[in-house]
Amino acid sequence: MWRVTEVNPVQEKIVELKKKSNAVILAHTYQPPEIQDIADYVGDSYGLSVQASRASADTIVFCGVRFMAETASILNPSRRVILPEADAGCPMADMIEADDLIKLKEQYPDYLVMCYVNSTAEIKALSDVCCTSSNALKIARKLPVDKGIIFVPDRNLGSYVQEQTGREMVLWDGFCPTHMRIEPSMIIQAKKDFPASMVLIHPEASPECRILADKVFSTGEMCEFVSKSEHQEFIIATEEGIMHTVGQANPQKLFHLLSSELRCPNMKKITLQSVCNALDGSGGEVIHVQEDIAAKALSSLEKMLQMSK
Ligand code: SF4
Repeated sequence: MWRVTEVNPVQEKIVELKKKSNAVILAHTYQPPEIQDIADYVGDSYGLSVQASRASADTIVFCGVRFMAETASILNPSRRVILPEADAGCPMADMIEADDLIKLKEQYPDYLVMCYVNSTAEIKALSDVCCTSSNALKIARKLPVDKGIIFVPDRNLGSYVQEQTGREMVLWDGFCPTHMRIEPSMIIQAKKDFPASMVLIHPEASPECRILADKVFSTGEMCEFVSKSEHQEFIIATEEGIMHTVGQANPQKLFHLLSSELRCPNMKKITLQSVCNALDGSGGEVIHVQEDIAAKALSSLEKMLQMSK
């Protein structure tokens, strides 16, 4: 059973510093429980992008990984965006470089480029439209039907979009090392162990695993679904941080994490102390995205926000 954590002195200090510096704290659902508890908003990449674009506070402390803080800075350049741990990166985002995408575009000159938000600012700048796991299907369905789609960097989300929309797609071979730890045998065993549970899986998992699940959801969709569903018991096949989010919102329901291996080490780099340091100016990194890259990346992000409506 996952329980609400108690407030500690560093959390209190953070609240005080946040007020003093007119800051807002945004946290991804994969962040540790104590970070989620001090955040003003906890959500998935799409929700966080929307919040970042609307933030009126002077400073955004982004508790997530680098591409998320970069995205916040691109969407709201007049705000100071701080990533509390400079080396909190995303291995999937680093699996494709700008030159790789330039070559792919030369190979498929008539294709449109759709990039998962889990990508660097350079990749977003080279893309026609960005997407998150919660709006990827909607966006792919809205792209002109006579055009093929180059999808980067996640081959698993890409194959999910391909399966569901029937679009002609070229997929980059990137993946999330955390979600790739999910094995079909884990799902088969969990279904035996908890037969009354529904299996909810993230599209970053492999197709062989997705097919064994009851529902494929982004983290935001997962949170919404479990709250609205009449089901009482769920097997959660995504990063463990979400267990705190769903557990807090639905204390009467039962959640089983598919495997204790579902822990993204980068998402766990941020600590209460590093958030505190980011707020008092003694730590963290203020994110700066090169202006020309930011302008182009903004266009693919804005297109995503428009097309998600
Ligand atoms: S969970 Fe996967 S996609 Fe998300 S930050 Fe970690 S490595 Fe990247």
